[in-house]
Amino acid sequence: MSQYKNILVAIDLSEDTTPILRRGLAIAHPGNAELHLIHVIEPLSFAYGGDIPMDFSGIQEEIHQQASQQMLRLANAHNVDAQHQHIVLGKPEVEIHTKAEELEADLIVVGSHGRHGLALLMGSTANGVLHGASCDMLAVRVGQDK
Ligand code: AMP
Repeated sequence: MSQYKNILVAIDLSEDTTPILRRGLAIAHPGNAELHLIHVIEPLSFAYGGDIPMDFSGIQEEIHQQASQQMLRLANAHNVDAQHQHIVLGKPEVEIHTKAEELEADLIVVGSHGRHGLALLMGSTANGVLHGASCDMLAVRVGQDK
């Protein structure tokens, strides 16, 4: 039986997502742990807001729809129901922490790339989630360097 009761799997919807989700499912399913998925959409205004006087709402809506469809496909393929799928707007690290607290998650699962050079110095989402996480965290190695 899984030691965990509430597992939050953070997914960026890239090609690395399936192995990360499968790792979460493998931990959740020997017992009766709940498994939630979260995908965070960063508002375009965070990146361009002050600099480009433009209305991003149409593009933002399109991004949201695409993400919802991808999340649904993935969730259906792995039997994750609608109540366990979360798409939120914001900064990934912040929103993952907020959702983990809201759900009383006891494990957060993220992907982690082996990084070198500048990318290593700049940090990663996995690092950001680890700092300040109030529960266990599993970083699943993904990508070419794993
Ligand atoms: P990165 O540091 O951006 O390469 O991402 C590493 C991992 O952080 C991904 O495999 C996901 O688990 C998580 N992550 C990154 N971006 C997002 C996002 N927008 N929403 C949810 N999780 C994310």
